[in-house]
Amino acid sequence: MTCDITMASYAADPATSAGRQFLEPPPTSRTEFQRDRDRIIHAAAFRRLEYKTQVFVNHEGDLFRTRLTHSIEVAQIARSIARNLQLNEDLVEAISLAHDLGHTPFGHAGQDALNACMRDHGGFEHNLQSLRVVDALEQRYGAFDGLNLMFETREGILKHCSLANARKLGTIGQRFIERRQPSLEAQLANLADEIAYNNHDIDDGLRSGLLSTGQLDEIDFYARQRRDVETTFPGIGGRRAINETIRRMINALIVDLITTSQARIRDAAVKTVEDVRNAPPLIAFSAQVGAEAAALKQFLRANLYQHYQVNRMTSKARRIITELFDAFIAEPSLLPPDYLVADAQGAHAASAQARSVADYIAGMTDRYAMREHRRLFQVDEI
Ligand code: MG
Repeated sequence: MTCDITMASYAADPATSAGRQFLEPPPTSRTEFQRDRDRIIHAAAFRRLEYKTQVFVNHEGDLFRTRLTHSIEVAQIARSIARNLQLNEDLVEAISLAHDLGHTPFGHAGQDALNACMRDHGGFEHNLQSLRVVDALEQRYGAFDGLNLMFETREGILKHCSLANARKLGTIGQRFIERRQPSLEAQLANLADEIAYNNHDIDDGLRSGLLSTGQLDEIDFYARQRRDVETTFPGIGGRRAINETIRRMINALIVDLITTSQARIRDAAVKTVEDVRNAPPLIAFSAQVGAEAAALKQFLRANLYQHYQVNRMTSKARRIITELFDAFIAEPSLLPPDYLVADAQGAHAASAQARSVADYIAGMTDRYAMREHRRLFQVDEI
């Protein structure tokens, strides 16, 4: 493995990029993708990630991951893999930091609730919303709405998309219709996301007491690393043993991803970004480690994401989101003026108003949503 910063010929390159939607002079003291990263960090939606749930609601404890710390961990993992694979680190960092910008308050419970509310108006999907944040909702620049990011950054943010939505999106949706791959940087950010959440959710699950180390020992991947920790540090226990185990799991996943992807890239003999787009997915785990990562994910789904204490929050979140949405649709005059669609008559205007309500709700932090709910539903709250 290498620590050089040389980029491979198949790494994304601003010189061959489809560029930005609105033409801008090239940056003078940074690369185009660094400029994207910088714009993302300065965006309001990025700051809100600090108060948005990953699994645990922000006020439940100070040490749990939030969407902000999650995004930083994704960027860290993605960058270190990118350097080994000689990919474009600036791009992978920009995609990683932006990948969750469109998330609603209260994590997946919030997204599912908002999607159900929007069922007659095109649905709600957080990937699509992340793209909408960077393409339209941020209002920071005089010349355009959104952040006017590079094509490759936007493409990486839109990691999934239904065919129906892809058809409405123009060039950025084209690859879903043509079944082509995005850049290696986009593929990498996606898997770095998975490495980050599988591991930090185990950490947070143990910290919260909703998971026990005994339960985790049933997972072979965890048990192996834990035995290694106990052999290396006889008598180790508590948080230190957990941290040593998790860092070994992260490392094992990263090393496997690097070596497997290197071999796949070599075997596919890709030379350019265009070759990458026409090849099968090249950033991947080996079959064995892929199965172990899937087992981890399955374990978390069964034991943490559906733990009754998490379910209670999920259920509350669903009620808050649904009641906010219904109240704003019934009485749009309760909305802050920026979210009011003028002359909302007819089906098209009704959908436009619903989309604007969804934008408003999706942009809320957990505590803002709770406060807004109290303001609307409790007479003694102003
Ligand atoms: Mg994520």
